[in-house]
Amino acid sequence: MTYAYDPQNIFARILRGEIPNRTVLETDHTLAFHDINPAAPVHVLVIPKGAYVSFDHFAAKASADEIVDFHRACAQVCEMVGVAPGDGFRAITNSGKSGMQEVPHYHLHILGGKVLGPLIAR
Ligand code: 5GP
Repeated sequence: MTYAYDPQNIFARILRGEIPNRTVLETDHTLAFHDINPAAPVHVLVIPKGAYVSFDHFAAKASADEIVDFHRACAQVCEMVGVAPGDGFRAITNSGKSGMQEVPHYHLHILGGKVLGPLIAR
């Protein structure tokens, strides 16, 4: 499987410092920042620094170091923003057209700070 990565996507531009962001955490392989249009009181996006289009791309192709760094960063972010340990959160990733992914750089949404309701509308 090959994945076409668009280096002009907005998160690539954030990673290059071309667009500002409100950083929560930066590690060797990962950046976490507040979503510009939060859907909940806590809404942080966690992205790998590498050029991965989606969750499946990252899971298939990222190095073990990148994968561990990313998930450890997620755990740290959850603690930093007070959702875990705490009242909990939801981690969501959208992929492709059916997932309604807007930005084609893998990102995990960490949402919390209120009861979030059902997973999807039926
Ligand atoms: P997706 O629909 O791809 O899963 O989510 C993209 C997310 O990126 C949306 O929640 C949107 O608000 C957020 N977003 C889009 N552009 C920017 C930006 O320039 N800065 C930040 N911080 N978030 C953005």
